[in-house]
Amino acid sequence: MLSQPVRTESWQQRKIRSDEIQRFMQGDRDFIDEGAITKALAANYHPDPVYIREIIAKSLSIETLTLDEAAALVHVDDPDLVAEMEAAAGEIKRRVYDNRIVTFAPLYLSNYCVNNCRYCGFRRENKAIRRLTLSMDEIRREVAVLCGQIGHKRLIVVYGEHPVSDIDYMVESIRTIYDVQVPTKKGVGCIRRVNVNAAPLCIEDLKRLHEVGIGTFQVFQETYHHATYARLHPADTIKGHYPWRLYCMHRAFEAGVDDFGIGALFGLADWRFETLGLLSHAHELERAVGIGPHTISFPRLEPAENTPFIQDTRLRVADADFRRAVTVLRLAVPYTGMILTARESADTRRALMPLGITQIDASSRIGVGAYADGSALDDQDNRQQFVLGDTRSLDTVIRELAEAGTITSFCTAGYRCGRTGKRIMDLLRSGKEGRFCKLNAVLTFREWLDDFATEETAAAGEPVIQREIEAISRQQPQSMDLFMDYYRRIAAGERDLYL
Ligand code: SAM
Ligand code: SF4
Repeated sequence: MLSQPVRTESWQQRKIRSDEIQRFMQGDRDFIDEGAITKALAANYHPDPVYIREIIAKSLSIETLTLDEAAALVHVDDPDLVAEMEAAAGEIKRRVYDNRIVTFAPLYLSNYCVNNCRYCGFRRENKAIRRLTLSMDEIRREVAVLCGQIGHKRLIVVYGEHPVSDIDYMVESIRTIYDVQVPTKKGVGCIRRVNVNAAPLCIEDLKRLHEVGIGTFQVFQETYHHATYARLHPADTIKGHYPWRLYCMHRAFEAGVDDFGIGALFGLADWRFETLGLLSHAHELERAVGIGPHTISFPRLEPAENTPFIQDTRLRVADADFRRAVTVLRLAVPYTGMILTARESADTRRALMPLGITQIDASSRIGVGAYADGSALDDQDNRQQFVLGDTRSLDTVIRELAEAGTITSFCTAGYRCGRTGKRIMDLLRSGKEGRFCKLNAVLTFREWLDDFATEETAAAGEPVIQREIEAISRQQPQSMDLFMDYYRRIAAGERDLYL
């Protein structure tokens, strides 16, 4: 693990390339039109129930909503109408993603950072944090636990912004992760999809991420509200440059990375504004490159070590407001994946899942190096970014989902078969992606049950598998022969067969 200081000034100065911002902008304004968002919010108080039901019908036909429509949903106060919105949110998820949940784990590789975001435990001024960058051997040990003991197939790797975790380190670490193979009870464990949460990169660096084979490139704007953004991200830092961050998905697309993960950190500015900010971002991506966000994340601000900014409780978005934000996002961008992380407590996650969540993490550790060293959760505060709310194991989460009739999918076939970007968007919108996903969900769930499940979880999972196989035989009889061939081979110990 690296621990010596590195000079960062000249590195920082070279980072931002104005030509890679300007050419996407229309004139000198970026696409977050605060006037339009504020006007939509002000013009849609007390919406007519007939209008709200029309909006719900539009969402159910998997069409992206306008700012006015989303603003109207934000302002509904009749409990019966709210219940209709929430039921529609769940229905949209079933139409697009069926009864599947995808799981992943975060893997923090380096917590050095040149930025100074006031809410983040990793900010450069925070002397209470123990700074670490994992070596390749240490990464192998982390991954061995994740794919050899817990059974994850997807990771989101997380880096601070710093020369020690620059693009060379990113590429090498991702390559190292893909190379790990660990024998399991019946087969072999490995990571099949590495998503990346990192600082915005230039096109040249993004091309290198594309070449090494990443899944989603995830960057959260944190807040879409310009003045709030400026207040929380000092102007003398790279992150202080709002448009450099805002246009990173445009650059990703040019570099060949077309699965975009956008997000806002809820609790920095008004939640209604952020919800419409996220929708504006989806509109812009649809307009500019023809592909909306693959996922939307909505982390809520959590306490972090030695970070007094967060102790100001006025900042936390109340549960009821958060619930509404999730519902509106689900209805407003019906095709997108919705990620609810273990920042939230188990109870909150249970309560929000039916609103159309598609991806969750479990067995998560966010201290750098914390999977392999097996340290107690409360012993990680000085090397993690914030404090986790849901610390249940993947096995427990999967059991609970299975008992509710939900299948956990470890499918990573999409990007390996070229089903990314526009192709996946079209398949999702038309409900056709389900054809592949249902089959791959069963195949990967079979692998996981055989390799990692406790007896209790296996008992909860088997009826789910059987129900899914019956559904496939009814809905996709033409695929049954090939599917059952793969299924039997996987049950016999072969791994990574997908359609
Ligand atoms: N350094 C990169 C960046 O800022 O984009 C990537 C990683 S950062 C570690 C990942 C995300 O964690 C941030 O984008 C932010 O939304 C979130 N985050 C930061 N501080 C947080 C806190 N106190 N509570 C919850 N989420 C937080
Ligand atoms: Fe650094 Fe990201 Fe934390 Fe900001 S949010 S201090 S950029 S790690």
